[in-house]
Amino acid sequence: MSFRLSPIWWPVLVVASPIIVPWLLAKNRRFQKESGNVAKLNQNRIKEAEPLEMPELDFLELTVLVEWKAKEGFIGDAGVSYLFKSELGSMLYDVGFGPTRPALTHNAAKLGFNLDQVDALTISHLHCDHMGGIPAQRSRQVTVPDELMSEKLKACFLPDKAEAQGFKTQLVERPQLLTAGIASSGPLARSLFIMGFTEEQALVARVKGKGLVVFTGCGHPTIEVVLKMVERLSNEPLYAVGGGLHFPITDGRGNRAGIKFQTIIGTGKPPWQRITDEDLSRTITAINAAGPKKVYLSGHDTCDHALDRMEKELKAETKVLKAGATYRF
Ligand SMILES: [Zn+2]
Ligand SMILES: [Zn+2]
Repeated sequence: MSFRLSPIWWPVLVVASPIIVPWLLAKNRRFQKESGNVAKLNQNRIKEAEPLEMPELDFLELTVLVEWKAKEGFIGDAGVSYLFKSELGSMLYDVGFGPTRPALTHNAAKLGFNLDQVDALTISHLHCDHMGGIPAQRSRQVTVPDELMSEKLKACFLPDKAEAQGFKTQLVERPQLLTAGIASSGPLARSLFIMGFTEEQALVARVKGKGLVVFTGCGHPTIEVVLKMVERLSNEPLYAVGGGLHFPITDGRGNRAGIKFQTIIGTGKPPWQRITDEDLSRTITAINAAGPKKVYLSGHDTCDHALDRMEKELKAETKVLKAGATYRF
């Protein structure tokens, strides 16, 4: 197994250990306590959720603006930006690394996309690869490249408190219909060891003759928890599941300076633990039990090994999403 942290960093770790070790132990105590609270919080939210009136859509279409894998001529990046369209309107879900990297602007220009074309922006969760870059995450300010902005003030649906300049922000506190006939699961929480308490909202839509389509951003609350919430919102069968499921098992995206960041700080677990194949096996079993007909995987937070395993072991027809591609449900 290859190193998550290159041996060139090990002497630095040894020297810094008198500071790092007590810090990690204190953080771990907080993390353990918060994880228990978060599990209860999600359970209560799921228990209290009521069935949602979701319009039956004639069609739902997804065009991928930002993803790790990309069609020829498009730029791949470790972020997410998905454009959803139905006969009732359209919505942009996440803005990748926003103006801080070229993928969103380049791919949007190639597709002739800007925010004039959508009714609203929805942010899955407040992480840099979804809300517009590292400065955006630090300042809790959703950031969209100027080239994409619309003169008209659009709604920006947020799963947690943040700002979004040029938008009318709307905090989503429970499952609700957003726009274009697409609903939010409402915020579902996760305690991540390094990144801390994180709220994430998934999208849910109901397509005529098919069933429910569910999309996540990073999938931090776990797809198991998201699907439990979805079950409360509608009795329709599950048709498709897509988006980030967060399995950087053997590798991470955006490795730098001999550090596989996603496998150390992006696992949600303490850095001395890993996301394992056993974890993935449990999720594969859960998805198979939920029985979607189609699965659309994101490579932005899931390594090739995990993508391969899911393509082989999921019973659903499984595809890996690509920037520049359009999928119709
Ligand atoms: Zn992500
Ligand atoms: Zn995330």
